[in-house]
Amino acid sequence: MSKPLDSSTRHQLAARVNYYREMGIYDFYRRPVDESLELEAVTAPEPMPAKQCTVSQPTEPLPTIQDKPAALKAIRADIGNCTRCRLHKGRTNLVFGIGNPNAELMFVGEGPGADEDAQGEPFVGRAGQLLNNMISAMGLKREDVYIANVVKCRPPGNRTPEKDECDICSPFLLRQIEVIKPRVIVALGAVAAKNLLAVNDSMANLRGRWYDFRGSRLAVTYHPAYLLRDPRQKKEAWKDLQMVMKYLGLTPPTKPPSE
Ligand code: URA
Repeated sequence: MSKPLDSSTRHQLAARVNYYREMGIYDFYRRPVDESLELEAVTAPEPMPAKQCTVSQPTEPLPTIQDKPAALKAIRADIGNCTRCRLHKGRTNLVFGIGNPNAELMFVGEGPGADEDAQGEPFVGRAGQLLNNMISAMGLKREDVYIANVVKCRPPGNRTPEKDECDICSPFLLRQIEVIKPRVIVALGAVAAKNLLAVNDSMANLRGRWYDFRGSRLAVTYHPAYLLRDPRQKKEAWKDLQMVMKYLGLTPPTKPPSE
């Protein structure tokens, strides 16, 4: 006979199972247990309204990972020569992510373009040059931050990654975030923002505020490729970055980023 769980334990268990799912862990097996300790099936909690909290949080703080470079290496090894989705067919190099494993600031883009696919490194083309300028305008160097994408293989013709591609790939990004534990994540553009926050909203609504994201703060700004197409929006992006700088205690330099 199964014993009913109280609602708080049920929610804690459900949140933990959800958390493991988001980390890409789906299979659990159980040791045989005493029947009297049998648990009831766990129901996932109702999703929270977007404006309050968009992503489930682990209920207890997970242990801090001591050897972050080794933990990132292990994630890379788990990805392997990935064929989990159709994007592998067109890739030259898988683009895992790059930067300081102890970064306080992490940028997340959409997916590799042609230059990134050729070099195996995120944001190395024209958009990457602008991102570098944005980083220096914040008083930082590219090596100080960590940069990754929602999908790790280039979508053909630079199309937007499809939902199933993002769903398959993003658990690895979530694991990278879990290891790095940046104080701030900046989602570059709508694809990154919508995937991380699991919301479908306009950039206008997504920008200009903080989100709680797995123990980090998350801000949304325009994708550098969009800023190259519409440079008038750079001053808006600069406002987003200033919000981030204020929180991180970075001294605002006098000059805004240039192309
Ligand atoms: N655009 C992205 O979203 N990511 C990259 O790595 C390069 C361009």
